[in-house]
Amino acid sequence: MSHTVSKRSTRKKWSTIMDLFEKQNPRPATELFYTTDFSFLIAVIASAQATDVSVNKVTTQNITAIDSPQKVWSLGEDGVRDIFKSINAYKNKSKYIVQTAAILIEQYNAEVPLSFEELIKLPGVGRKTANVVLNTLTNASRIAVDTHVLRVCSRLGLSQTAKQKSDEDCVKQAEMKMDLFPNSSKSVFEYVDPVLECSRTSKYAPLLCSVSPSQNSDFEGFERGPMNPENCEHALYAVVPKRYWSRASNWLILHGRYVCKARKPQCESCVLRELCASYIGSLSKPSKSEF
Ligand code: SF4
Repeated sequence: MSHTVSKRSTRKKWSTIMDLFEKQNPRPATELFYTTDFSFLIAVIASAQATDVSVNKVTTQNITAIDSPQKVWSLGEDGVRDIFKSINAYKNKSKYIVQTAAILIEQYNAEVPLSFEELIKLPGVGRKTANVVLNTLTNASRIAVDTHVLRVCSRLGLSQTAKQKSDEDCVKQAEMKMDLFPNSSKSVFEYVDPVLECSRTSKYAPLLCSVSPSQNSDFEGFERGPMNPENCEHALYAVVPKRYWSRASNWLILHGRYVCKARKPQCESCVLRELCASYIGSLSKPSKSEF
């Protein structure tokens, strides 16, 4: 019974959060530069573990060379590597981009397939990338969870409701990362800490991308556990009103990038502070001067 009450108040809170975002910025948009569906897809692939600014620098200068699968295919892996060489993990990303171009030419008439199931089969395209692509290109009601979204949601107090991912899923996710970081030792996994936004290592694959739920977590009374991008996505579908799903990730990404920054969140100027578990929690902690 208490679960129902808690669920209802959590939905109300997330509805208010979305209302506030809408008031500030009714039409949030991606900051990645693109001119065609294909150039957007490869910009999103290139942006994994890299900033939009660094990707835009490359794509704006080379857009006419990479705006179709045929052009990318004729450039070949070496040509694509040369273009993306300033981007993190460019060797594997270039390989994925050329393989994706080939698949699109062979199977999709050189068009980007606009279905989640088909997108996630493409090399270098995971759940987040597929959601971002569908969100931007078709306005689909999907929520993409990146490091900013994970951090902001965690600070706001969202915790997972879905069952914790199995170890097998976590290992699969770790292996995908290992593919991006081929020089890492198999016994030590590299990942990006979603809260501190810095590169870290872990001996335990199941801890990859996990984040401790905050003390003042939503879903009081629900089973708690570490939150990862997929759990976070499902938790957001459970609490954010559907009319906001197509804009929710851009709002959360922009909020994480410019306000709720990894190292120095701008809480005093944040419109969400009265709803934020992390901010409310910090008020109840004694300040250093009280010691
Ligand atoms: S109040 Fe602070 S921690 Fe909470 S969402 Fe805003 S910036 Fe982030």
